[in-house]
Amino acid sequence: MNIPILMYHKIQEPQPGNDLAVSRAAFARQMAYLHKQGYRTIALSTLAAAGQDPSGLPKRPVVITFDDAYQSVYSEARPILQEQGFTATVFVVAEALGQHNFWDVGKDVAQETCMPGNELMALADQGWEIGSHGATHANLAEVTEETLITETEGSRRMLEQELKTKVEVFCYPFGAWNEKARIAVQTAGYQAACAISPGTESVTADIFALRRVYVKPSDTPADFKRKISSWYLWYRARRKR
Ligand SMILES: [Zn+2]
Repeated sequence: MNIPILMYHKIQEPQPGNDLAVSRAAFARQMAYLHKQGYRTIALSTLAAAGQDPSGLPKRPVVITFDDAYQSVYSEARPILQEQGFTATVFVVAEALGQHNFWDVGKDVAQETCMPGNELMALADQGWEIGSHGATHANLAEVTEETLITETEGSRRMLEQELKTKVEVFCYPFGAWNEKARIAVQTAGYQAACAISPGTESVTADIFALRRVYVKPSDTPADFKRKISSWYLWYRARRKR
């Protein structure tokens, strides 16, 4: 199936060279556009449960995802989504609740606070899906087998305990994965995992490496419209080969 899975990180004024922030105004415009076009949000686990059969899904489904679970998701994105009757899936770094993006230290990436547990629980109460983004945001293609288990199974257990909610979906930090990482994610009991841009036949061809649409701060309304269109999602798979 070619259903758009949108990838966002921070909702704030983008700084030059920062591709992880989308402004509040742009995000509001994108969500209003989706709503007007008849899109309805579904949780990532709903998409996973549908497998390759869209019959039980809304007519125009879209999955909205946020990586790293930053504070701006709660303060900026949540009210905008609420206005449209939308929910999203947020990928949380289990050891970063109420802390900041410690995995970016030493890189040219701004520091931002991650949501504390009570805000994440409030989102879950509002119908948002909580997914795991690992325990420490480690690159799963580069860690030992022992760490792989902590990052996948361990992070799931930590989040379920801390947030008192089911955690059934995973998102590879840095979009990095290999066969071992993928097996660890499956073994830990997740139903689906998001990558960034694997060269798969369709968006959902590989349920453990789902392809996402990277919404960039430089995207114009026309870019956004194009990136979520089904012909573009289809075409992108061909372009990779
Ligand atoms: Zn991340």
